[in-house]
Amino acid sequence: GASNGHRGDELGSGTKAHFVLVPLMYQGHVIPAVDTALLLATHGALASVVATPYNAARIRPTIDLARQSGLPVRLVELPLDCAAVGLPEGADNVEKIPADLHVNYFDALALLAAPLERHLRAHPPYPTCIVSDFCHAWTVGVAASLGVPRLTFFSMCAFCLLCQHNVERFNAYDGVADDNEPVVVPGLEQRIEVTRAQAPGFFRTPGFERLADDIERARAKADGVVMNSFLEMEPEYVAGYAAARNMKVWTIGPVSLYHRHKATLAARGNTTDATAVAADECIRWLDGKEASSVVYVSFGSIAHADPKQVLELGHGLEASGQPFVWVLKNPGFYGEAVSEFLGDLEERVGGRGMLIKGWAPQVLILNHAAVGGFVTHCGWNSTLEAIAAGLPVVTWPHFSDQFLNEKLAVEVLGVGVSIGVKEPLMWQVAQKEIVVGREAVEAAVRSIMDGGDEGEERRRKALALSEKAKAAVQDGGSSLANLLDLIKRFEVDAGGRTTE
Ligand code: UDP
Repeated sequence: GASNGHRGDELGSGTKAHFVLVPLMYQGHVIPAVDTALLLATHGALASVVATPYNAARIRPTIDLARQSGLPVRLVELPLDCAAVGLPEGADNVEKIPADLHVNYFDALALLAAPLERHLRAHPPYPTCIVSDFCHAWTVGVAASLGVPRLTFFSMCAFCLLCQHNVERFNAYDGVADDNEPVVVPGLEQRIEVTRAQAPGFFRTPGFERLADDIERARAKADGVVMNSFLEMEPEYVAGYAAARNMKVWTIGPVSLYHRHKATLAARGNTTDATAVAADECIRWLDGKEASSVVYVSFGSIAHADPKQVLELGHGLEASGQPFVWVLKNPGFYGEAVSEFLGDLEERVGGRGMLIKGWAPQVLILNHAAVGGFVTHCGWNSTLEAIAAGLPVVTWPHFSDQFLNEKLAVEVLGVGVSIGVKEPLMWQVAQKEIVVGREAVEAAVRSIMDGGDEGEERRRKALALSEKAKAAVQDGGSSLANLLDLIKRFEVDAGGRTTE
């Protein structure tokens, strides 16, 4: 963990750890991987981030800023062969991939194995550790062929991972006919209930099943786990997951706290297209609002609501009386009626509501003093960003790990109010129609923003948690200590071997 004076163009050091991060090419995975690379580079390691062309374009500004400031971080851009897996050209942008073709995108990413290995052999220094998204089973072969250790990266919480692990290991769904029947998660001290619909297991969802076993095998034989979480938030679950997997777990989060400057935050995950709202415009708008008065509403980078849901949500926000920032990706996607509704809504609420149609500088917004609550889909990055910012949340899960993240926020940490959704909604396709009514939206928003004694208690817990999160990444904190330990383990000794 020596501090380093190396510049971005001086990656040739012989003793440094060299981590190669291979994220899944979805924003929720790329963003925390880039933050992790920046953290590693800040604390004395070399870091290379692998990305396909569309994703490389989105992160290049961030990597360039870091290199200019002297951090040894590299972007490794590899071409994506869409035609080979039956994807249309341009499908590198997951927002443009039809729902049933996402699994083909995974196939296309698996084809990066050979080009990645060639690249790493041709561009010294030789890697000392592959940090692979847990979704990439194919990096097992790359690491083996290169003869280097491979860690799996999770931007997920240990609570979620342990719940899912225990449900599977103890066959908790056996004999449960109804996907919506709650079962108790085995092996936990706290009583937590889940349904198979909410937590079917990673990749145990229609279309993805053929990937599930390979991914589980790859997870089981990893050389360790890097997790975007922090010990003090969920100590028993971090320990429990490490024990269950018999693996070293390095919690290094919240990685979003890497960013201390407006410029790098505004560039974080930013889209290169014109829909990105200017960070300054958001800040100016928020500057005009009272402390803790604004509710921020966003459902991450993938989820799309049904047009009817957009209307109900809009009416609910209006009725709440609270100032709001509402992020809607691709509003054109919802059609004429919704566009008209949004136009009218903006007029009716005037300066009380700000609609962001495109990519929002989320972490910048969450940390503005005017923001007092977050209506979130419980993607782990968003959930942890809310925690780091000390905000109570309205939890509105859609799919994947989001239902378990909701349980962490509401039942374990006590910082959330559930909107009450019980069933998943994947790629804007629901098994049946699930629309949350405007009254439920209004009530949930009111309770996080102005919820009496209970609301005060949630806010107090959220602030205390944010203090712990910030302490974890500072000198003497658990996440920083883990990061330094991680770097030290994968440094190269004089004989050219990693010290691990
Ligand atoms: N994000 C953002 N602006 C947006 C939408 C999302 O900065 O308009 C960021 C957000 O801060 C988070 C990530 O994108 O870091 C989304 O990840 P998350 O796990 O919350 O949800 P996902 O997009 O994977 O469903």
